[in-house]
Amino acid sequence: MKIAKAGSSASSWAPAENFTGRVRRDPLVAPESPGRAVAGCVTFEPGARTAWHTHPAGQILIITAGKGWVQREGGPREEVTPGDSVWFDANEKHWHGATDKTAMTHIAVTEFIEGEAADWLEHVSDADYDYNG
Ligand code: MN
Repeated sequence: MKIAKAGSSASSWAPAENFTGRVRRDPLVAPESPGRAVAGCVTFEPGARTAWHTHPAGQILIITAGKGWVQREGGPREEVTPGDSVWFDANEKHWHGATDKTAMTHIAVTEFIEGEAADWLEHVSDADYDYNG
């Protein structure tokens, strides 16, 4: 057993290559073999979001603060709030982030397959982000 104390890992800014806006990442626990799941806390400022991406083993999100938007390719943009959890299927193209006016924080649980936890694609355009069809 290992306890990772709060604040024991440095925060980092998510890279502009794969995110839009200001996104802070706070690591929670890292996997040790044969475990493969990593958990981290991610905070999106208003307007901030991931790029489109997929996860080879899927992903769980647990919304812990604020109000955010999530969308899978071909589906509507959907609102999420604290207490909501989200599952993305393996290789399902999607994005997640804050709303345009409110920050959002989620815990993300993601498994690695052969060293990869995400495949990054194009940024979410302002038109796609704003579209509420
Ligand atoms: Mn994801």
